[in-house]
Amino acid sequence: MSLIKKLKKYGWMIKAISQTKFSTKRAMAKGLRNRKKYFPKKRVKADIENLINCALCPNMCRFDCPAVQASKKETHSPAMKAKIGYYLEMDYLEKVEENIIPLFEGCVHCSGCKIWCPFDFAVGDLLDGVAADLFEQDVLPQPIKNFSQRIRDNNGLYKKEHYLQATKSLEAFNEGEIYYFPGCVTMGNNAKVIDSIKIIANKSSSSIISKPEDRWCCGAPSIYAGDIEKAKELAAHNSAHIKSLEVKAIICECPECTHMLKEQYPQLGFDLEVPIYHVAEWVDILLKQKKIALKNGEELDEYKDWLPISFHDPCVLARKLDVVDQPTEIMKLMFPEKFKENAYSKEHTHCCGFGGLVNIVNPELALKMAKNRLDEFSQENIKTIVTSCPTCWYSFMKANENFEFEIRDLLEIIAELIE
Ligand code: SF4
Ligand code: SF4
Repeated sequence: MSLIKKLKKYGWMIKAISQTKFSTKRAMAKGLRNRKKYFPKKRVKADIENLINCALCPNMCRFDCPAVQASKKETHSPAMKAKIGYYLEMDYLEKVEENIIPLFEGCVHCSGCKIWCPFDFAVGDLLDGVAADLFEQDVLPQPIKNFSQRIRDNNGLYKKEHYLQATKSLEAFNEGEIYYFPGCVTMGNNAKVIDSIKIIANKSSSSIISKPEDRWCCGAPSIYAGDIEKAKELAAHNSAHIKSLEVKAIICECPECTHMLKEQYPQLGFDLEVPIYHVAEWVDILLKQKKIALKNGEELDEYKDWLPISFHDPCVLARKLDVVDQPTEIMKLMFPEKFKENAYSKEHTHCCGFGGLVNIVNPELALKMAKNRLDEFSQENIKTIVTSCPTCWYSFMKANENFEFEIRDLLEIIAELIE
């Protein structure tokens, strides 16, 4: 943020402080002089200063936090989670399951709070550091330890057997200038997406390479579980593997993988040094370069019972990667009259409920959040919900038993409507 923007944003603080009583100013100065006592004695990974700042906030973003909306528990509210995280770091709270679990079941890491926060905090990001410290101290509850161990054992979310169909589909990508990094959730649950990429690649004459046997999990789930050492190992492996292929660009269908490779790998010391795109950006580029064209889906019989159609913006794609216009534009091209933008769209989207480790520690709460999100589409009489994230697709498929939506991945529709 530029200095001018910062001054504009935080100018109100200077004004507020200047208007306080002298005794308040003196107390603030004393607090600043003694600030060390509010910090842990040992070096920690958590951002203590900003945990304190958030903990002292009157929960200004609480109204838009999907976790607290679903659970109705104050321990899941953003500022309260920051407070719990801070108290755990300071040893003011015992490091037992009942105190630790709210941080994991109560945050989908959706960055919804960041949209409203005057300090630009995403509580999920603040909690990553707390998770890393708790992991190091070996005090995390057993389900989280088991989850980290599962990734350590498989170098992925699932065992290799779970990826057989996807691995077969990926055989087609044997040579090319673009590297396709398939996410664990897609490989394990929705290999149809890979076939859709194949169709788009063929039509656009894009040459793609992917080596499923050599690729490991991107590392994002390990970060949520506090296992930074494993996240680094995964990043080091993937980075060396991808670099050895000497590609010119990378595409990922999973926003979480895209964010990890693009933003987190450089922070962990592994810059891939080529452009990294989410598939919605890739398709947008292909359309602009006129390498592909899309039909009007409204004219086809297959779609007539499934309109109006809408798009669910995955939180990582919209808020962490800032990819908000491309999916909507692509949807409008395919459904010019019957595409209906949801009231909570783009950066104001609401989470599908399966972000972070909520589904690992409290699947009922994850499902409740997914149902809350589907309900927002139901109120707008939508028939088909399209998304562009394998986790959102998976969570909606699970929550759809109470609804009758058609749930589709953006790539599948593009592959069906490509000319
Ligand atoms: S994230 Fe920002 S707005 Fe939300 S509780 Fe923390 S400081 Fe307040
Ligand atoms: S990241 Fe999302 S779930 Fe976590 S506190 Fe912020 S709004 Fe709530």
